[in-house]
Amino acid sequence: DLTLDLAAVRRDFPILEREVHGKPLIYLDNAATSQTPVAVIDSLGDYYRRYNANIHRGLHTLADEATAAFEGVRATVQRHLNAFEPREIVFTRGTTEAINLVANSWGRANLRAGDEVVVSLMEHHSNIVPWQLLERELGIVIKVIPVDARGVLDQQAYRELLGERTRLVCVNHVSNALGTINPIAEMARDAHAHGALILVDGAQAVPHQAVDVQALDADFYAFSGHKVYGPLGAGALYGKASILEAMPPWQGGGEMISRVSFERGTEFAAVPHRFEAGTPSVADVIAMGAALDWVNALGIERLSAWEQWLLDHATQKLERIDGLKIIGTAPQKASVISFVVDGAHAQDIGLLIDQLGVAIRTGHHCAQPVLNHFGVEATCRASLAVYNTPEEVDAFVEALQRVLGMLR
Ligand code: PMP
Repeated sequence: DLTLDLAAVRRDFPILEREVHGKPLIYLDNAATSQTPVAVIDSLGDYYRRYNANIHRGLHTLADEATAAFEGVRATVQRHLNAFEPREIVFTRGTTEAINLVANSWGRANLRAGDEVVVSLMEHHSNIVPWQLLERELGIVIKVIPVDARGVLDQQAYRELLGERTRLVCVNHVSNALGTINPIAEMARDAHAHGALILVDGAQAVPHQAVDVQALDADFYAFSGHKVYGPLGAGALYGKASILEAMPPWQGGGEMISRVSFERGTEFAAVPHRFEAGTPSVADVIAMGAALDWVNALGIERLSAWEQWLLDHATQKLERIDGLKIIGTAPQKASVISFVVDGAHAQDIGLLIDQLGVAIRTGHHCAQPVLNHFGVEATCRASLAVYNTPEEVDAFVEALQRVLGMLR
């Protein structure tokens, strides 16, 4: 039974009751960041009210409680991604930091001039620029997987890009600009057949569907807590234990050592702490755990089914608008709809529709290469979360029509 008690879900999100310019807020910018349920807000408050302490070096009660809660989230994330063991989860500030960790640790240790990194055309800048930095510094070669007219990766072209020098494939599970869901398990099989690893940017997948890193056979999988109902400032990198074990640290400092000595050199801590230098965002990590608990109490299948229904509903309504073109029409999509409209600039639409209480995103969505491929500089993007309603979608489409009436 996948029925959703939408009213109950919405009651968990106090922000949904606010008004914007005297209109009820309709929040459709969930791909940028999702709103935060009471359980998560309370988790943050509870931490600072009751057991704020620095972790791992405590020996006092508050430090022990904070450490236990923080390490408990490692197990929560492990179960959520179906990783094999908790130490395969490294806490980061988010997806961007997770990818930079891989580039700076695994990348510098394993990549040489002429080695190839295969990157999809639909990547977020955070899965492009770290590899370009290594291109400049180490002379690695970046190969780009092309995208077809629907916004689907060309799998034939992908297989042809794989070769003897391929070391790593970098691809998002779900595109934040197009909504496309990519066939990660197949792509991993192809990468592994060539002895390459695969790094998956899961920033837009974890909020919308069940993820099983073992079934996908991903070597690295990154996501951000703030896009899956958690607070800003916490995310995670999954890495296979055997791969993480062989990686050097990327930042030095406290927490990541087992012994420091000027005379005898420094020994690094075991995985995953080796990759967690300095004091982490303890409260945010703990609250990210509360967010995943919230999602699991609701049921990720139920959440997915509702979002898919809303996506279909919104797509059908938008398609009826004269001159509106949806960018990204893959058969497998998450609840992200990018569109452009003849005779109206995305920016103008975004500004005017905000006056009507509707929050959508306009711009390049940090994915300029794929937008350029579609011949546009900017799109409007409506992205749906589990708390969105059909009434909100209808009101958004109505507001959009009013705005287009003013602009055209
Ligand atoms: N990858 C994708 C697909 C994203 O949508 C985003 C966020 N827009 C990121 C990476 C970067 O995430 P963060 O800013 O939380 O590090």
